[in-house]
Amino acid sequence: MRAAVFNGPGSVDVADRPDPVIEEPTDAIVRVVLACVCGSDLWYWRGESPHPVGSIGHEFIGVVEEVGAQVVTVAVGDFVIAPFIFSDMSCPHCLNGATLSCVRGGNFGNGEIDGGQGEAVRVPLAGSTLVPVPGSGHSDAMLKSLLTLWDVMATGHHAAVSARVKQGDTVAVVGDGAVGLCAVLASRRLGADRIIALSRNPERQKLALEFGATDIVGERGDPATQAVLELTSGIGADAAMECVGTAQSIATAGAIARPGSTVGIVGVPHGEIPFVDTFFHNIGWKGGPAPARIYIPDLLTDVLAGSINPGQIFDYETDLNHITDAYRAMDERRAIKSLIRVGS
Ligand SMILES: [Zn+2]
Repeated sequence: MRAAVFNGPGSVDVADRPDPVIEEPTDAIVRVVLACVCGSDLWYWRGESPHPVGSIGHEFIGVVEEVGAQVVTVAVGDFVIAPFIFSDMSCPHCLNGATLSCVRGGNFGNGEIDGGQGEAVRVPLAGSTLVPVPGSGHSDAMLKSLLTLWDVMATGHHAAVSARVKQGDTVAVVGDGAVGLCAVLASRRLGADRIIALSRNPERQKLALEFGATDIVGERGDPATQAVLELTSGIGADAAMECVGTAQSIATAGAIARPGSTVGIVGVPHGEIPFVDTFFHNIGWKGGPAPARIYIPDLLTDVLAGSINPGQIFDYETDLNHITDAYRAMDERRAIKSLIRVGS
């Protein structure tokens, strides 16, 4: 099969990889329909996080082509969606909501295990990992929204859940990438009254407003903190969400959180968490990679009902042969998120 291969920083190409086959009775083979590039893939592309040479990509939706003997919850022909990792959903960590720490789990696109940016994927623990999508003949717009549930919408939601966003809150989202925009959408879905989006980019500001932002702060660093404090009568946000992972964005999130609140942090931290600064204000930090498999059923219901449409974050499209362009467009910030059309 053809699949994206990570060769090193700045180099992702399409190449031949072995066709996936059922190796364990708990496996399934999924033929990929749509895939995308994640903000975390960019850390590898830029050489800021290590990644082994080989398969890459962890966001895809597709059709089940084959199942192992023990897979009973999904069947051949099912259109499926799944979290960006596989997990058994039955070990002590999964049962405690920490699916990323599943004792039998693992990552797609880790160099060896098939990645989402390819024609097909062997999905380990398929019965507990894949979620079949009810209905058929979904529109292209619907498919794009379903694709976000793999990772980016689940991650935005995790930021909001971790920050304890609740009805009537005034919240602030640091980061206008795909995850930040999804955190805006998730905050509105959870009932936040006022949503302050920190963004300097006019296109992203527009989408943030469409997703439910009520205020835009265009500054960065200290001026951004001042602006949010002014908007909140000097108190700070009831819930602050960190959706970038740089030292500056982490510092801003800590500085705009009101005393006694919790910062929801989902950007992979590439800077120190200023715990000593927030300690004296009883501000907590909570987050990490989203337990997407737990969130997908609820979010899926809302996507199918049309009450949320996170697929709007895709503003660049290409195919597998042009995978390099998909990375470049995001790296150069020409695209919020790149969609890759793989199959039908
Ligand atoms: Zn587990």
